[in-house]
Amino acid sequence: MPVPNSQENMSRCVCGSCPSYLEGDSGFFCSLGKSQKSLEKKGCICNTCGNWEEVGLSAGYYCAEGRAE
Ligand code: SF4
Ligand code: SF4
Repeated sequence: MPVPNSQENMSRCVCGSCPSYLEGDSGFFCSLGKSQKSLEKKGCICNTCGNWEEVGLSAGYYCAEGRAE
């Protein structure tokens, strides 16, 4: 399910605390799309994010796989 690109949804993003997150990256990948950086999958904490239940997400790793559809 798409995640609306709103300030409220962006503020819920916990990517910055994720082991796969690279410093300086955008975060909010479920809405903005995948990272431009070359990252390694070291775990995904999307399921602890407020948007996970709110929007009904189920995949994770949006930084590597692209936005939620
Ligand atoms: S679901 Fe993941 S990518 Fe989307 S806002 Fe939450 S932590 Fe960020
Ligand atoms: S999308 Fe998931 S794996 Fe990628 S940085 Fe955010 S929480 Fe981590």
